[in-house]
Amino acid sequence: MMNCKNAIDCKKAIESLIDYLHHEVNEPDQKIIKAHLDECRRCCNLFDFEDKFTRLIKEKSGKETCPQALKNSILKLIDPSLCCKGEGSRTA
Ligand SMILES: [Zn+2]
Repeated sequence: MMNCKNAIDCKKAIESLIDYLHHEVNEPDQKIIKAHLDECRRCCNLFDFEDKFTRLIKEKSGKETCPQALKNSILKLIDPSLCCKGEGSRTA
């Protein structure tokens, strides 16, 4: 399933970006994730959402940990069958 022009698919990007937000990815991976976010508006929006959510959790709890339940719920938002399809045919 390589209909995705990006180096990594959306599911992988979302999984990685959660680690990315917690500064748990190494430099090469950060570049790959950033490149994906630049090209994929869908993931870019999710990244923005997750970024705000992470900040909120940090403010409220003083902790930087991402609850596994949150991670799972975000991953559920991603439908792999929609990955990089509809880009261009739908304008947001
Ligand atoms: Zn994506």
